Amino acid sequence: MMITNIFKVVLIMCCVAYVHTFKVVDLTHELSDTTIYWPGNPQYNFSILARGQGSSFWYESNYVAQSEHGGTHVDAPAHFYEAAWRTHQIPMERLTGLAVVIDVKDKARTNPDYRVQISDVTGWESANGRIPDNAVVIMNSGWGYKYPNKTAVFGTSTPEVPSTFHFPAWHQDAVTWLINKRFVNMIGVDTPSTDYGQSSDFPTHVVMARHNVIGLENIANLDQLPVTGSRLFAGVIKTKGGSGGPARIFATISTEDCTTSGSIPLPLPILLLCIINTALYLHFW
Ligand SMILES: [Zn+2]
Repeated sequence: MMITNIFKVVLIMCCVAYVHTFKVVDLTHELSDTTIYWPGNPQYNFSILARGQGSSFWYESNYVAQSEHGGTHVDAPAHFYEAAWRTHQIPMERLTGLAVVIDVKDKARTNPDYRVQISDVTGWESANGRIPDNAVVIMNSGWGYKYPNKTAVFGTSTPEVPSTFHFPAWHQDAVTWLINKRFVNMIGVDTPSTDYGQSSDFPTHVVMARHNVIGLENIANLDQLPVTGSRLFAGVIKTKGGSGGPARIFATISTEDCTTSGSIPLPLPILLLCIINTALYLHFW
């Protein structure tokens, strides 16, 4: 009995230590009446079906309808290429990867039409090392702070007219470089589109779609991520035949070392101790 009590204590200590090794960052704007959609897309529709105290319990249930491309969301490759993956066809392993955050806030502040250049990507590599395989490469333009102010996010006083939009995103040459020279799972922005506001032919969308690279748009809280050393997850809703959809995007950061890149920052010895103790618990407790 004495031994099993020791196991209990060790088990609890290990699990507490394991949980405390990670920090989780929410990279998602909440869905509400203020959610920003591309012009022409129906707005978010939330209505209460039931909310109240019954005879023996409280009960809530709601109806939610929305367009795929609004708020923090995923672009499935089929959004811009018919033969590419639709939402339900995206392999799960493509919806995660080590995050590479490219900071262009200074450039975007003076030029809202800024597009991330190849030199921004190679400059990141000079400072932080080669972009890892299956990475998620994200532009941090500082635009996330403007959300959900529609005129500020679209950079225009007429947010219903796309030709007047001014916000930063990716240059197609930088996206093409990432696709040809590295292996990336996803490319993201903290703005409404991976193509900049003044684009009318959406070349980054097209090249990404043709190569089954997933897009992430309106990512939130990017200043909470280190430029390297976190792992991002894009939990997109699994709509059959979808061209994308709302996603809970989040990242895990090792609280022991947030600056090194590499594999998932799992403290393996602690995880093994948890497993061993759980096995002992099942046998002896
Ligand atoms: Zn989209």
